[in-house]
This record gives sequence, C-alpha cells and structure tokens, in this order.
Amino acid sequence: MREPPAPVDRVEVRAYTVPTDAPEADGTASWDSTSLVLVQLGAADAVGTGWSYAPAAAAGLVHELLEPVVEGADPFDVPGLSQAMIRAVRNAGRPGLASYAISAVDVALWDLKSRLLGLPLHQLLGSVRTSVPVYGSGGFTTYDQAQLNQQLEGWLEQGIPRVKIKIGEAWGTRPDRDLERMRHTRGVIGSDVELYVDANGGYSRKQAIRLMRAASALDIRWLEEPVSSDDHEGLREVRDAVDADVTAGEYGSDLYYFRRLCQTGAVDCVQVDVTRCGGITEWLRAAAVTASFGLDVSGHCAPHLHVHVAAATPNLRHLEWFHDHARIERMFFEGALDPCGGSLSPRDDSAGHGLTLRDGDVVRFRVS
Ligand SMILES: [Mg+2]
Repeated sequence: MREPPAPVDRVEVRAYTVPTDAPEADGTASWDSTSLVLVQLGAADAVGTGWSYAPAAAAGLVHELLEPVVEGADPFDVPGLSQAMIRAVRNAGRPGLASYAISAVDVALWDLKSRLLGLPLHQLLGSVRTSVPVYGSGGFTTYDQAQLNQQLEGWLEQGIPRVKIKIGEAWGTRPDRDLERMRHTRGVIGSDVELYVDANGGYSRKQAIRLMRAASALDIRWLEEPVSSDDHEGLREVRDAVDADVTAGEYGSDLYYFRRLCQTGAVDCVQVDVTRCGGITEWLRAAAVTASFGLDVSGHCAPHLHVHVAAATPNLRHLEWFHDHARIERMFFEGALDPCGGSLSPRDDSAGHGLTLRDGDVVRFRVS
C-alpha cells in the first residue's frame, strides 16, 4: 500500500453548548441551547474543520470509533474513509448519533483535502452555480408578535424572498393560534415573499389537511413534516390533498432512507442535512438518488456547512438560513457569509470552506 503524502496526524474533537438568544419551541420540542460537536483534522500544515449540531455524546463516538479510522489515513481518499467509517459504526447503529459523528469527520476531511490542494471546497467538488438561494427560517412558537415581526422584518431588509415559521404548536393542539400566526406572517411579508411552514410532525393527517384548507388564501408554498417524517403514507395522504409542497428528510442518514422517501411519493422536495446524513460524501449520493425520482433537494439548517456542496448539486432548490445556526456560525467562525439578496456565494478567495474557528471567542461555550 502506498504511503499517503500527507497523512492525518492530528485529530481534535470538542463539544460546545450555546444558549439561544430567547426561549425557542416548534410543534413538538422546546429548547434553550444548541449543542455542536466540532472535529478538526490536521495533515502537513493544513487543518480541516467539520461539525454537527449533535449532543456532546457524539464526540465520544468520534474518539472511540472514527479516530482509529482516520488517524494516519490519506485525507485525499474521502469516499474510502466514508465507507470505512460506516463499517466502523455497524454495531453502534448508524442512524442518529453515529451518523452525526461521521458527518462531522467527513466534512473535516473534505475541508482538509481542499486546503491541502489550495482550492475552495466548491471548486474541488465541481460547481454548477455560483450562488445558492436561501430561505429565512425561525418563527418559533414561543415568539410573541413583536419578536416575530422583528425576525421577519430582518429577513425582508436582507432581501430574502422566502421565509418559514413553525406551526403545530403543542403537538397540534393550538391550530387556531397556528392559523393566526400564519395570517399575521403573510400580512407582514406581503404577497411577493414565499411563505413556508414547518409542523415538525405535530399534526395528524386530517388535521394538517383541514388546517391547509383553512389557510388556502395564504398561498403557503411549503408544508414541512405535517405528520411524522417516519409516516410516509401519511405524508403522501397530506401531499395528495394540499397545494403546498410537502417536504421531509432532515433525519435521513442512508441512501435507502432517501430512496424510500422518494419511492413512496411522500414528498415534493427532499430535505437532506449534511451534518446528519454522513457529510458531503453521502449528501452527493443522496442528491443523486433524489434526482433519479425527478425531485429537488433542500439543505436542512447549518447553512455554512451546506453552501459548498449545494453549489455543486444540480438538483438543489435552496438552503435553510436557520436562525440558531446562522447566529452560531457567525459567532464561531471568521469568514461567515452574508445572505443579503436571498442567496449565499461560497468564497473563491480562500481554500476549503473558508471558515476559521474563533477559538478564543467560543471557548466559554466548551463542554468537553
Ligand atoms: Mg424541520
């Protein structure tokens, strides 16, 4: 076997917990902090950085199961290392934390490879576009009207022409408030901005259909997880009954999952999360599976981790400019991007993903 010219010789894994700027909730969960696990891999004089919005426990999985795979390996062989990592987590179970851990390492490998080559990551992957559309995402059910207005007006000022709010409040037990917030949002954004909603699986099938009928004058374009994303027949039933595009896929972590989602006719657009699905390597393959069904993919959350691979994906619809993650990524990294005009352009003037950790600023959030 040939010796790698620049083997991975440093592996660093850290976990952080960052408080939100206000209490947040969607249809089926509430939170006041966000955790991320960050992986840095060194080879020669380059360092690659990846992360996943995962509980600190994912850092333990990286140490125990993935570090032995990448330590001493050739960072140019990312697809081979992806396969080796997938094999290494077989008994731990790939969906969930193990896949989040693989994603962080996979992104760090791609970043490292492109830095060793002195290329922007989107150029290494091979771009199909120079800018990537985004939609503003937040609109938590915990916001009062003033907080919601402030967030929506911020996106409008930035020229973002699509926005998403959370509905399905308290497991679908407050449909009247959901409808009132949808009407209010349409009033604030006017008729030219696309309105999206996300129920995070909070409704029953018929409840979701009734709500969308009641909201028919609001021109809702995107209905995310009206029912559980595991209920593919339920998604299909809602999809057949409403005008909005029905979407799901954010928890997907293997190609069979994405194929099933498409094959059952459950969705109009497949959401893929590069921090969960297995990183850039699996994102590209998931996007290809999706394309074979004539469907687009949309990037779920973590906009700065998606932007380069999104620029290299032919069947991309857009990325989610998620309030929590946009805020954290600006706090954590120099080189964060500006969504003004409704799109992100991956940098051409720096190697890798172009982000540099602000170590000193964020050490206060470190938990392991
Ligand atoms: Mg969602």
